[in-house]
Amino acid sequence: MSTRNLLWHLDAACVGMDPEVFYPLDLTPDSLGVAAAKRVCADCPVRGECLADVLAAEDPSRRWGISGGTTPAERSALFAVQRRTAIPVAAALREVA
Ligand code: SF4
Repeated sequence: MSTRNLLWHLDAACVGMDPEVFYPLDLTPDSLGVAAAKRVCADCPVRGECLADVLAAEDPSRRWGISGGTTPAERSALFAVQRRTAIPVAAALREVA
């Protein structure tokens, strides 16, 4: 049986925040909206769990918004690394998050 904490959402730094913060219209890496969302994620105690879940469940053709402190382009790159190397990138990040 997995010991993975399925209730990680309860500890998320974004609980109760306006979801719009994580869906800026301008997703370029240096935009103010991306920076604001990433600041929240940077201090989130469950960033690794969030990123692991989004990488496992997100439709690659419909990536949008900031999740786990990453932009859609960054998640695409992580997803490609995972597929190429079979290394669970998000799980590794969870260990250091
Ligand atoms: S890492 Fe995920 S759970 Fe944490 S604040 Fe960012 S979007 Fe929310």
